[in-house]
Amino acid sequence: MTINLPDLPYDKDALEPHISRNTLTFHHEKHHNAYVTNLNKLIEGTDLANETLEEIIKKTVNKAEKTGIFNNAAQVWNHTFYWQSMKPGGGGLPTGDIAEKINADFGGYDNFIEQLKNAGLTQFGSGWAWLIIKNNKLEIMKTSNADTPIAHGLKPLLTIDVWEHAYYLDYQNGRGNYLDVFLNNLVNWEFVNSNLV
Ligand code: MN
Repeated sequence: MTINLPDLPYDKDALEPHISRNTLTFHHEKHHNAYVTNLNKLIEGTDLANETLEEIIKKTVNKAEKTGIFNNAAQVWNHTFYWQSMKPGGGGLPTGDIAEKINADFGGYDNFIEQLKNAGLTQFGSGWAWLIIKNNKLEIMKTSNADTPIAHGLKPLLTIDVWEHAYYLDYQNGRGNYLDVFLNNLVNWEFVNSNLV
């Protein structure tokens, strides 16, 4: 099967003024699309060509000769998850079951925000900041480059892309400003809650 580039779940200008149409256009049509194109080329004619994206990720992680396939597959998956992690008019205080779970596992929203922002800020170079659930407990984690929790049997609930291409056009080197805007204005808590069940 061919891996397809999914549509964004909103219009390209829907996240303005926080993330510009220009950023979303480059990020989706150039970066995300390139990972899809590269992956399809790399798996064509191989035994991975008929696998799902998730299976490709799990079968190539930590295999030196499959690094290119892993990187592109994981980046395809991570970006699709990232688009869904945002919505117009999102962010701020959580709602639903995740709100109670954040209070229970982090001792409150402020601690949660501080830890998630810190993960994004301290990811050296390119990567991702994540909210995951492990043994029924919420945890913050960060991954480098293309690495993704699902490659390690972990269940992600939310992600923030901290590659420079995610924010440079709008915030230049201000990763902290982008993280603040993401948390205050963009988090799709309905999506996070849907991943809890
Ligand atoms: Mn990206």
